Amino acid sequence: MNSVALRLQLERLQQQDLFRQRKVLETAQSVQVSIDGALKINFSSNDYLGLANHPLVVQAFQEAANRWGVGSGSAHLVCGHSIEHHALELELAEFCGRERALLFSTGYMANLGVISTLVGKGDTVFEDRLNHASLLDGALLSRAHFKRYHHADHDHLETLLASSNSNNKLIVTDGVFSMDGDLASLPDLAKAALAHNAWLMVDDAHGLGVVGAHGGGVVEQFNLSVEQVPILIGTLGKAFGTSGAFVAGSEPLIEILLQKARTYIYTTAQPPALAAATRASLTLLIAEQWRREKLNALIAVFRRGAQQLGLSLMASATPIQPILVGDSARAMAIGNRLFEQGFLVSAIRPPTVPKGSARLRVTFSAEHTECQVEQLLIALERAFTMDKLGDE
Ligand code: PMP
Repeated sequence: MNSVALRLQLERLQQQDLFRQRKVLETAQSVQVSIDGALKINFSSNDYLGLANHPLVVQAFQEAANRWGVGSGSAHLVCGHSIEHHALELELAEFCGRERALLFSTGYMANLGVISTLVGKGDTVFEDRLNHASLLDGALLSRAHFKRYHHADHDHLETLLASSNSNNKLIVTDGVFSMDGDLASLPDLAKAALAHNAWLMVDDAHGLGVVGAHGGGVVEQFNLSVEQVPILIGTLGKAFGTSGAFVAGSEPLIEILLQKARTYIYTTAQPPALAAATRASLTLLIAEQWRREKLNALIAVFRRGAQQLGLSLMASATPIQPILVGDSARAMAIGNRLFEQGFLVSAIRPPTVPKGSARLRVTFSAEHTECQVEQLLIALERAFTMDKLGDE
C-alpha cells in the first residue's frame, strides 16, 4: 500500500458517487445552522428532542466544568469515575427500569464491548441485516459464529436459530432502525429468544427519549420486561443531545461488563461535565412530554404532505423519515438541490445502506416548526421535479 494506491481508491469512490465530504457548521447544533455563511434549515440531525443546545443542559455543562475541570484524567477503573458519572448511571438505570447501568464513551464502543464480552469462539450471534455497523462489528470482533437474518424476517431468524448447536446464543437488533426508521418487532424476537434459550440485546439508540408513552423507547412501547430484553443499549448523542452511551441490565450483567469489557476498561472516562449535562438532559427528556407530542405532530404533517407529492416514504412512525431514491448519484443531486434551497438533508448511500437503496434521510426535531416542515415539502417537490426534468 502506498499513496498512489490510496489515490486510486479515492478516485474510485468519486467515480461511484460514494465519496463523502463533511459540511463545516459555523453555528451550534440546532434546527437552523450556518454553513459557508448561509443559513440552512437542518433536517439531518439526530438531536430529536432539540436538547443539544438547550440552555439548561449548557448551564449544567458549564457549572460542572467549573467544578470538575475538563478531562476525567483516566479510565473509570483507575481514577476517572466521578460522582457525576456515578449519579448518571443510577438515574439511567431507574429511567430504564433496570437494576444497573454502565456508562461508555460512545455507542460504538458500548456495542463492541458488550458483544465481545458476552460471546466468543463457539458461540453464535444472530443479527438483523440492517443493524448498525457497530453491532455488526461487535459480532466480528467477538469471533463467535455470525449469522445475519433478512431484515425483520422472523422465519429466517427461526431457521437460523433452529440449525445452531451453540450453547450460547445472542440475538442482536436495533430498536429503531437507524436508516429506515421502523421498529424491530421485539415481542417476536423476545419469543424466539425464549424458545431457543438465547439472549436478546436491543440497541435503542434512536428510540430512547422518542418512542414509548414516556420516552422509554421500544421496550416501553412493547411493554417488555428485563427478562425479555436483558441487554439494553442507549446512546446519549441523539435524543439526549449530549454524547456517550450506556448499557442497562441486571446487576451481574453490568458487573461482568465492568470487569471484562475491553472498550470500557481501556479508555478514558468521558468528562464529568458531560455526565452532568446528560443528567440535566435526562430530567428534561422525562419532564417535557410536549417534545414527543410535537415530534409526532410534525411527522404526521410531513407524511401527509410527502404522500400527496408521491414520494417513496418508508414504513416509519419515528422522527427518521427516509425518502427512497435508489441511485446514489440521484440521491446526491436531490440532496444538493435541497441544499441550494436552504435545507440540510443527508443523502445516505452504500455501504451505510444496501446497494441500490440510496435515500434522503429526513429527520425531525421537536424544535422544528410546522411552517419549516411545509417549507421542506415545497423544496422537496421542487427538487424532485427538477430531477425528473433532468431525466427527460
Ligand atoms: N447504534 C446505533 C443504532 C446508531 O445509530 C449509532 C450512531 N449513529 C450508534 C450505535 C453509535 O453511537 P455513538 O454515536 O455514540 O458512537
